[in-house]
Amino acid sequence: MKKVFSRPKSLKPTPFRYCPGCGHSLVHRIIAEAVDQLKIRTRVIGIAPVGCAVFAYDYFNFDMLEAAHGRPPAAATALKRVMPEKIIFSYQGDGDLAAIGTSEIIHAANRGENLSVFFINNANYGMTGGQMAPTTIHGQRTTTTPSGRDAKTSGYPLRVSELLATIEGVSFVERVSVDSYKNLMRAKRAVTTAFLNQIDCKGFSFVEILSPCPTNWGMTPQKALQWLREALIPVYPLGIIKGKKCN
Ligand code: SF4
Repeated sequence: MKKVFSRPKSLKPTPFRYCPGCGHSLVHRIIAEAVDQLKIRTRVIGIAPVGCAVFAYDYFNFDMLEAAHGRPPAAATALKRVMPEKIIFSYQGDGDLAAIGTSEIIHAANRGENLSVFFINNANYGMTGGQMAPTTIHGQRTTTTPSGRDAKTSGYPLRVSELLATIEGVSFVERVSVDSYKNLMRAKRAVTTAFLNQIDCKGFSFVEILSPCPTNWGMTPQKALQWLREALIPVYPLGIIKGKKCN
């Protein structure tokens, strides 16, 4: 019989509890595949955020740590410094990384910590009901910007990748998306590069992943992918912002 699905060893058989069409499950899968392909499952330690991916440790089949809200880069720093042979990554959403954890991510980057950071940008606070995040784009309706985000009162969308790319201690920054199979494969290559950079002691690597949140965007999964392409990518252009791919 033709095999249609094979689970990466780095994913447990636990069913995902994400909403239908959510990008988190796709991102979990490409991280798990990259870990399997690099044969680093016994060396890798992931750090779960507070947010919709708070239960990431239920899905990944390798060591995971749960950190306080916004603090994964600080926890990752400690783990890497006491166990330099381990491959450490943090997995963080907009609220965790770009709001309450802004300080931690900037200073970990500025110290040039040899870490891999995966930042899931879905332009809102998912777990708490779809409030405005720093990454919410102009005009985007959220529960706290019902008429659409307005720069006069709510400021501008925060481009975290561009911001971190200006920091000397950062070796690699790429923005990717999971809106199509082609982009998913690019995202996996970026994740792999971030791991390889850490293995080669190149320093801080950052991958921003644009990801659909159909539930809080109030859209079907198909419409959410279309909105991601037509509205989000023009504000957050895809591509390598700093460094080079190594695979
Ligand atoms: S609220 Fe959004 S980010 Fe959270 S699980 Fe549902 S679709 Fe995914």
